[in-house]
Amino acid sequence: RQAAIAAVTNYSVNSPPIQFADTPAQDYYSVNVFNKSVMKERLPKAVFKSLISTIESGEKLDPNVADIVASAMKDWAIEKGATHYAHIFYPLTGATAEKHDSFLSPTSDGSTLSEFSGKQLIQGEPDGSSFPTGGIRVTSQARGYTIWDVTSPAYLMENPNGTTLCIPTAFVSWTGEALDKKTPVLRSMQALNKQAQRILKLFGHQDGAFVASTAGPEQEYFLVDRHFYFARPDLLNAGRTLFGCKPPKGQEFDDHYFGAIPERVLAFMLDAERELFKLGIPVKTRHNEVAPGQFEIAPVFESANLAADHQQLMMITLDRIAKKYGMACLMHEKPFAGVNGSGKHVNWSMGSSSQGNLLDPGDTPHDNAQFLVFCAAVIRAVHLHQGLLRAVVATAGNDHRLGANEAPPAIISIFLGDQLSDIFDQIKAGGASSSIDSGTLTVGVDTLPLFAKDAGDRNRTSPFAFTGNRFEFRAVGSNQSIAGPLVAMNTIIAESVDFCATKLELATQGDPDKLNGAIQELLTEIINDHSAIIFNGDGYSDEWHAEAAERGLLNLKSTPDALPALQTPETLAMFEKYEVLSERELESRLETYLEQYCLTVDVEANLTISMAKKLIFPAAIRYQSELASTCANLKLVGYDFDTDTLDTVTMLVKSLQDSISRLEYAVADESPTTSLDEARHRCDAVLTSMLAVRNCVDQLEGIVADDLWPLPTYQEMLFIK
Ligand code: ADP
Ligand code: MG
Repeated sequence: RQAAIAAVTNYSVNSPPIQFADTPAQDYYSVNVFNKSVMKERLPKAVFKSLISTIESGEKLDPNVADIVASAMKDWAIEKGATHYAHIFYPLTGATAEKHDSFLSPTSDGSTLSEFSGKQLIQGEPDGSSFPTGGIRVTSQARGYTIWDVTSPAYLMENPNGTTLCIPTAFVSWTGEALDKKTPVLRSMQALNKQAQRILKLFGHQDGAFVASTAGPEQEYFLVDRHFYFARPDLLNAGRTLFGCKPPKGQEFDDHYFGAIPERVLAFMLDAERELFKLGIPVKTRHNEVAPGQFEIAPVFESANLAADHQQLMMITLDRIAKKYGMACLMHEKPFAGVNGSGKHVNWSMGSSSQGNLLDPGDTPHDNAQFLVFCAAVIRAVHLHQGLLRAVVATAGNDHRLGANEAPPAIISIFLGDQLSDIFDQIKAGGASSSIDSGTLTVGVDTLPLFAKDAGDRNRTSPFAFTGNRFEFRAVGSNQSIAGPLVAMNTIIAESVDFCATKLELATQGDPDKLNGAIQELLTEIINDHSAIIFNGDGYSDEWHAEAAERGLLNLKSTPDALPALQTPETLAMFEKYEVLSERELESRLETYLEQYCLTVDVEANLTISMAKKLIFPAAIRYQSELASTCANLKLVGYDFDTDTLDTVTMLVKSLQDSISRLEYAVADESPTTSLDEARHRCDAVLTSMLAVRNCVDQLEGIVADDLWPLPTYQEMLFIK
């Protein structure tokens, strides 16, 4: 620890500063992406057109174009220094996986030929047998295929010693079942588009431009010096501290939030942003977050599938560049107890190239009516599927955050803001119906144009908030892939939009004059049935917990409570109906996530045991023995020594030993049989026993002599820059 402190104090940046004056940031943008403009330049016109219609309108890929695209891609990549290509895929672990192959193949005359065929572009076969599949694929049928996702552009990953052409792919079993996070994102986007088109058609918009869900994820993270990181086995192996007292100065002063960014951190940010720019990731904002050592980065929103891929790349890049600046980037939801955790706010909307953002209130009564229908569809969806939304953010890490007093509560509710709530209140009261005249729906027209897009009354306690022209799902964990939450949002909203379209189609029977009346009826019905989910107050308060229970809202506190919501009959039927996930695929996901939860807790429990035994206990008894010998010596020379401290240390050492034994016992317990029972056992017995150990350790940290304490403290990790 002392060596780490010294090293941190003497740190200086050793990479040369970036000269943005020589190369302006915009010259970096997308230089490593095989994007539309590169394609246009390098592909025959017909091939380019065919590819673009697949990318933009979701049309089936013409297999004949693959060879030509592959060859152009290969030439482009080799010109830029690539030696290998890799199919990139997104297994259920939430990580990013890649399998590399060289472009070079040996020929019979002993030389080599660089080749990359359409077949190699379209399909790969990684040996994915060790990825979790929740029982879909037994090892003897380990074949899994990666399939080129045309809608997410290929890019180059640079490394000082070589460059790789990366091709985003979906990962499926040989029976065609999804083994990954991407496949259902693509399927759910299709489902949403199909249903949204029906509403647009009712409003007279028939151009058919693809309605894509859009996502803008805000990533929170902590930075700590790598010397500290390596001196903390818990940070290194579990991503969070399993021990540590709250620092004397924490975040009470709110002096870090939006404060000046420390120089080393800024250097890191500029470098990371440049790398992200090269990959075509439109990063936009950066700032200090609430906790000391905590920061946020957010890109401009993109189509959901692309945003999900970019978000994975963003996490990898932050991690990689932090190392270059001697830091570790912690993306765990709760690296430090007693200090704010990290989330990933997923801003979500839907829109098309011709209609723009469908959750934008708009200026005309016509636009407003359409907006209200889509908005009501979201409200209905969130109310009906609150359990599912909770389940898709349920992870061991996020459990430390949700429901604690600084993150959205585990109860899912919607913040609408005063103005929009007022409009829905009017509709509910039936007041708005009187203002339907001359064929125009004037629901709330008086108030809507005043709608402040960046309303100041932003409610940070809400897990699902309307923020002017989009919804912000704030319960997502900082370490999570955003794919799962996007699949859930796309699918529940597709289902709800389907419900609305069906009602409106039935009521109007093709007669546009009947639309306004039908909308009024639909909105009234939705708001009557689903307004229980709307809550604009303080989500942290005890009153809200009581009121939410009265309203019949779910309060699923932990991962084992929440994950079974993936398998309710309604959820199964919905995913099946919109062809997003089959029953088997969903079941495999539940199995995998339960397993991930157990594995995570097990690693933490074993670390707790080994650190408590091998680092903390020795430090405590050394101090104990120092105190004891001082006490004995003083007695010898006739002084009375107050043994309070010795007594406390002795008592804590005893509790520490006992609590370690109890944790060991809980870890060894093999009585749970089903995966869900195993997860419950981790939650109820293992995690609580870990907390008991932590409690002793943290008390010891407050007493044991500083020079004997083996672990870098919160104070050191959070404040030394
Ligand atoms: P704040 O911290 O105030 O919520 P940020 O600027 O950090 O706001 O992040 C807002 C995010 O919302 C950005 O990623 C932005 O691109 C995204 N966003 C804006 N409009 C949409 C939209 N229509 N669909 C999805 N995301 C959007
Ligand atoms: Mg934000």
